[in-house]
Amino acid sequence: MEFNYCCSICNKNFNIVPELTLCPDCSKNQEPDQPLLGVLEVKLKGKADETFVISDLLPVEPQYFPPAPVGNTPLWEPANLRQKTGFKNLFIKDDSSNPTSSFKDRASFLVSAFAKKFNINDIALASTGNAGSSMAGIGAAAGQRVTLFLPKTAPKAKLVQALQYGAKVFQVDGSYDMAYDISLAYSQKKGGMNRNTAYNPMTIEGKKTVSLELFKQLGQAFLNGSKLNKSRLKKSELNKFELNRAPDMVFVSAGDGCILAGVYKGFRDLKQLGLIQDIPRIVAVQAKTSDALFRAYTTGKFENIPTTTIADSICVDVPRNGIHALAQIKQYNGEVMRVSDDQIIQAQARLSRTTGLFTEPAGAAAFAGFLKAAPRLDPDALIVVLTTGNGLKDSASASLGIEMPQTLIHSVDDIL
Ligand SMILES: *Cc1c(COP(=O)(O)O)cnc(C)c1O
Repeated sequence: MEFNYCCSICNKNFNIVPELTLCPDCSKNQEPDQPLLGVLEVKLKGKADETFVISDLLPVEPQYFPPAPVGNTPLWEPANLRQKTGFKNLFIKDDSSNPTSSFKDRASFLVSAFAKKFNINDIALASTGNAGSSMAGIGAAAGQRVTLFLPKTAPKAKLVQALQYGAKVFQVDGSYDMAYDISLAYSQKKGGMNRNTAYNPMTIEGKKTVSLELFKQLGQAFLNGSKLNKSRLKKSELNKFELNRAPDMVFVSAGDGCILAGVYKGFRDLKQLGLIQDIPRIVAVQAKTSDALFRAYTTGKFENIPTTTIADSICVDVPRNGIHALAQIKQYNGEVMRVSDDQIIQAQARLSRTTGLFTEPAGAAAFAGFLKAAPRLDPDALIVVLTTGNGLKDSASASLGIEMPQTLIHSVDDIL
């Protein structure tokens, strides 16, 4: 397999080198407080059949991979939830089971490998919390130094996690967007690699692995004759599914729109290789009170309005990958929808109670999006909900969806 960079706006090709982050031509017109212009994608050239190994489709060789078991996250077949919702082919891809408990490890993994390949030992980034704790953990595994810029509102568990892994952490007196700008200025002065989402092309490329895994896991679920409802399928459709192991729909929460772009990239690679026929319908779920992608989807404009939501991981004023993400949603008939903080908190508790899977608010947002959309969806559709982070990362938010015990007891007589 051969790889190069390709500009997501002008389609110009470039060699893959660490000095190049954005398309030099398109990024010239970058305005402050706007999504990045000239985000680079990795383009692959070559052939593969369905027995491919995921690392074959990545632009950094396995010898540089960090020694941490990223990816291969479990695909849940939630029987109770299927029964309660009537969606017989509903799956949950649980990325909170990555080493640092969030989806971000997929990006950190490839960034770490890329830095290693070019003997770069310093990695800096801005983060709402998870990207930072992720890079800190994966960097620790690889023996790389990590410098992290966090907004002051980041949940404490994520800060503690990053410090546990030995990262150098600066708290910014402002939002994630401010941290993003400071971290870029830091990297420009100090050198090393910057892992900022979308700015470093390996972030989206690393995140594509989730779709490659879905392709493999859904194929396996089918072959195992697991709980997948095959009876509804006609013979011809069975054959199609054997060939086409992509889901019909994927629900994913979106802040910067980088996971979204990674999900698309994986399926686009599979389509390019002739392994699937159709790109699934991807539904990006945003919080009602931090909905920059949704607004731009309708108005075509990105405004820099300060936003807040309980789902800190998707609290983003200006989605850095906004242009690139929206272009794909439009091209592949995807969708952006919104859910309220209250719906997120309710969905979080409901998921925990019906499946045993406790995800943080940003992960629950994807599930809340599914619940909200459910009345208009085909109950036979093969649907995947991505849970992107572990619930324990933000227990303060999760405590809003439950009732804490109010009194202390002294003996069993107090309650019987
Ligand atoms: C980062 C993150 C997201 C959103 O990803 P974007 O690329 O910013 O859209 C969703 N959920 C969790 C848990 C995250 O950490």
